[in-house]
Amino acid sequence: MQEPDFRLGIDLGGTKIEVIALDRAGRELLRQRVATPQGDYAATIATAARLVAEAERALGGRGSVGFGTPGSLSRASGRLRGSNSVCLNGQPIRDDLAAALGREVRIANDANCFALSEATDGAGTGARVVFGVILGTGVGGGIVVAGAVLEGPNGIAGEWGHNPLPWPRDDERPGPPCYCGRAGCIETWLCGPGFERDHRQAAGAALTVPAVVARAAAGDAACSATLGRYEDRLARALAHVINLLDPDVIVLGGGMSNIDRLYDRVPALWGQWVFSDRVDTRLVRHRHGDSSGVRGAAWLWGRAG
Ligand SMILES: [Zn+2]
Repeated sequence: MQEPDFRLGIDLGGTKIEVIALDRAGRELLRQRVATPQGDYAATIATAARLVAEAERALGGRGSVGFGTPGSLSRASGRLRGSNSVCLNGQPIRDDLAAALGREVRIANDANCFALSEATDGAGTGARVVFGVILGTGVGGGIVVAGAVLEGPNGIAGEWGHNPLPWPRDDERPGPPCYCGRAGCIETWLCGPGFERDHRQAAGAALTVPAVVARAAAGDAACSATLGRYEDRLARALAHVINLLDPDVIVLGGGMSNIDRLYDRVPALWGQWVFSDRVDTRLVRHRHGDSSGVRGAAWLWGRAG
């Protein structure tokens, strides 16, 4: 195959489709975003193809193309499942994109793209095993080993958001109901709306996450307690990951990753549950922020070659 001139990454989201072009050093050559055609699968594929054609025309070359999207491809059927862009679900999206673009494409879910971006040239650069976690409106995870996304036969490696919150306390059982049909999933406790629900139930006040964080910093006891409960739950959830995977670095992304005190408090707590006399795992904030999804999609074809 001819050497591509650059790497194109496309983030196929529910509200926007974004393309980025990276050179081998990770420098951004081009970026563009457009609104996602709502509820229209064929138009979504056509829009992605148009963005690729425009980028290649602007840059005067041909790129490799990787896609990041919510959900994952079923190994059995090759069709997408679990996407919040429901018109994409059940579609053979990789095959259709490959046909529209006239080349092989790679596709991975957005948490895997986040982890790959941060492992390749972000906060996890140089680490062998990176666990990337998105703590946003939902909770997702991805694992990168030696520069490549770990997928597994079911295509779900790293998806720990729908495992139960480990070592639950009495008042955490059975836990909030989850859209997946179970109760007490990690996601129900660690996503942004879960944090706000927990504060509302404990303190009787409806506050946003940034408001709780600001009031805690100003000495509000109830807000400080909510943050403390969140840190305790995140520490337990990550201790579970450390016991199983023992990653070198855990990178946090998503809106909740903007809480500064997590990076000191959580590692101070997780030793209680990690089965080791010491814990050298690093907990770090993402480097590429909202760009990690699209950058990781570009890196699905690797950094060189
Ligand atoms: Zn669940």
